[in-house]
Amino acid sequence: MFEKILIANRGEIALRVIRACQELGVKTVAVYSDADAHAPHVREADEAVNVGPAPSSQSYLLGARLIEVALRTGAQAIHPGYGFLSERAWFARAVRDAGLVFIGPPAEAIEAMGSKTAARQLVIAAGVPVVPGTTESIRDAADAIEIAERFGFPVLLKAAAGGGGKGMRIVHAAADLPDALASAQREARNAFGDDAVYVEKYIDGPRHVEIQVLADMHGNVVHLGERECSVQRRHQKMIEEAPSVAVSPELRARMGATAVAAARAAGYVNAGTCEFLLDRDGQYYFLEMNTRIQVEHPVTELVMGLDLVQWQIRVAAGEVLPFAQRDFVPRGWAMECRITSEDPSNGFLPSTGRIEYLHLPTGPGVRWDGGIESGSEVGLHYDPMLAKLIVHAPTRALAIARMRRALRELTIDGIETSRGFHLRVMDHPEFQRGDITIQWLEQRLPELTKPAMPREAVQLAALAAALVAHEERTAGRGAPAVTATDPLPSASAHGNGPSWRDVARRESLRSS
Ligand code: ADP
Repeated sequence: MFEKILIANRGEIALRVIRACQELGVKTVAVYSDADAHAPHVREADEAVNVGPAPSSQSYLLGARLIEVALRTGAQAIHPGYGFLSERAWFARAVRDAGLVFIGPPAEAIEAMGSKTAARQLVIAAGVPVVPGTTESIRDAADAIEIAERFGFPVLLKAAAGGGGKGMRIVHAAADLPDALASAQREARNAFGDDAVYVEKYIDGPRHVEIQVLADMHGNVVHLGERECSVQRRHQKMIEEAPSVAVSPELRARMGATAVAAARAAGYVNAGTCEFLLDRDGQYYFLEMNTRIQVEHPVTELVMGLDLVQWQIRVAAGEVLPFAQRDFVPRGWAMECRITSEDPSNGFLPSTGRIEYLHLPTGPGVRWDGGIESGSEVGLHYDPMLAKLIVHAPTRALAIARMRRALRELTIDGIETSRGFHLRVMDHPEFQRGDITIQWLEQRLPELTKPAMPREAVQLAALAAALVAHEERTAGRGAPAVTATDPLPSASAHGNGPSWRDVARRESLRSS
């Protein structure tokens, strides 16, 4: 086992890796930007090193600097977390060339899966079903139209280097293709420095179901069942669960075997995930392989009863996986809500500011993987995902009830978050029936994000409350304090006409 590991990340995943290391008896080195000087991961690590200013391009993404810090502090390995440098083959290679261990797959496997088109070619050769489409990038609009007509509209244009839903465009007719292609290429060039785009058939109404795999250096590869990740907004996951209502033990075994075959084809080692679309007829199609630990890994940990991050570290240290495939049968139901600093009632606009007060849910079956605390400043430099709330219960219905209870216990004051939005999803009958596809959330967005009260009513109620407080402090001096159970004084008690108290009462009654 390693003696010391450097964690090349921040926020909840940095803390997650630190916790795994603490339990394994491994010392940790955190890195941080100026904006994160007071972040919890800095405090929890055994050592912490400032690596630059707030923008990640000047701090968390400086691979050479992170490697230099690892060497200087005597770390033997680097855990990249997710995002940032986790899927950069050049970084994995540079870590290895520096005589350190990259806690993830070999650079060659990252490369093989890094391009969606190359990955499609690789897994097709291994007999893995992929979404119908091309395995080469498009030359021009005429080429794209010809290909799209071959597969039939609608089609999806996708960036070969894609990730995070960027560089993707649904196209319904040939006439729309040239513009869609130009904008997909532009977005891909900006996001990935590579404008290669290819064509896939657009699958109508599928689920996103992915399979977790774990592989050691000695040729052992197992899968850990599926995660259902269909609740997505703009191709980004918001709620994940394990298992999936749509996956039988038989289908799990087949999809699992497919994922293992894909991992073997890539020479995969460590934890990874094969993403699939599962259609209404039970057909599944490989989308891509994520060559890192994923945000949603805890739901698998809870139903399979193991610590994936610890196994990432143990496998990287050369340990043999002691499992057989039959050891992995999901137990109960786990669900995860991503708590983000976004305002759902305002188009999911990022919300910034200071977290004035944080109260975390506890009790049976509740897990909080977060990177925030009371007093944390939430800015715009990094991803808006602040934390994950995860629950585990015997059945799906009980998991939903538990998630609802935990969301109600959670208080985050000071910024807008996705908490209330998640509560509405939990309360939605279609979600409760498990009747969800990757389009479900977008279709239900208006009802799931409608403000609880009209904005003007909220403003008026706030104004009324401020006025009551003000009067109690000034004009009301000497008079008995107004309590919540006192009736509001009538207009006549205050002289001429209806007082602001009456207006406030009427307005608050109207809006409630
Ligand atoms: P990224 O790497 O950018 O996240 P993915 O290939 O993983 O892109 O796709 C992200 C999401 O987009 C999927 O989870 C799914 O919701 C949707 N999607 C991708 N490909 C298709 C397709 N061919 N048909 C329908 N939806 C798709």
